[in-house]
Amino acid sequence: MSNPLSRRKFLAATGAVAAFAAVPPRRAFATPSSSTFLVGDLPPATDKPSGRIVDMHVHFDEKNPNFIADLLKIGERLNLTACVLTPYLNRKVVADAAKQYPARIVPIGSVDLDAVDVVRQVEELHTLGYRGLGELEFVKKPFTDASYMPVYELANRYGWAVLFHTGIVLRQNFDEPEDVASYRMRAFHVEEIARRFPKIIALGAHCGNPEYEWAGEVARWNPNVFFDLSGSSLDKMHDHLVDFRKVFWWSGTRWGKKQPENDPNAFAKLVFGSDDGLEGIERVLVQYRALFEACDVPARTQKLILGGTLAKIFGLPE
Ligand SMILES: [Zn+2]
Repeated sequence: MSNPLSRRKFLAATGAVAAFAAVPPRRAFATPSSSTFLVGDLPPATDKPSGRIVDMHVHFDEKNPNFIADLLKIGERLNLTACVLTPYLNRKVVADAAKQYPARIVPIGSVDLDAVDVVRQVEELHTLGYRGLGELEFVKKPFTDASYMPVYELANRYGWAVLFHTGIVLRQNFDEPEDVASYRMRAFHVEEIARRFPKIIALGAHCGNPEYEWAGEVARWNPNVFFDLSGSSLDKMHDHLVDFRKVFWWSGTRWGKKQPENDPNAFAKLVFGSDDGLEGIERVLVQYRALFEACDVPARTQKLILGGTLAKIFGLPE
């Protein structure tokens, strides 16, 4: 949907940016007390990771006229493909860029599920070469409402990936009433959609924050469900990342169901998503790697999380 207030602008409006403006490139809303890594802690850019990184959660920034060029630069440096979550209004520029740079940009349409012509919008996005929908958020009804089913039916027919916001959602305006509520976007709604529409790859953003357990269990029983850990969770959990082993608990047991590449590690149900602007991608990569270390995620599984799983879904080169 068209988001009248970008995340960055939202933070600026609430003073969060101003409070930490003196310490870039640390992300504006990182807690200053946490020992958050700086981008400078990363290995030099020439040390490209061994595999392609695929970022499921990059919002198109209509305020940045150089967005595509900036994205291509980062993509080249990190060997990264971005799923660009594109408002309907910006659909053409991203569709064209994706045709020109198919290994760098996967076009994903960010429609408003409550728009009266949403089905027509989705059909048009398909014609333009879009590969999925998302981030679906700020919905007026729960994700499983009957009125949204025609959209999911189309996504199922197209075999699309659909990224759902899950969990706590930001408040765009503190002074005006707004018809937005997190409960409509709880992680367990993704379960019903994934089961009724088995050709959809259902991706939940933010791992259902704070209902990680529901996200984990829904991912465990549904081969077509994955979650990203973008948002505040990896900051919030910085000092006890090992707790995510309680959420992704079934490694090596008989309780993991149809894991990607038959990987027995439960963390293979995660995918990489940054959701922090282009300048935040490397910082979130560092956070994911801290999670891997804290939870002893094996290298093979790390590769799936950081790109292998999504590369296969979208047919990207290794
Ligand atoms: Zn979100």
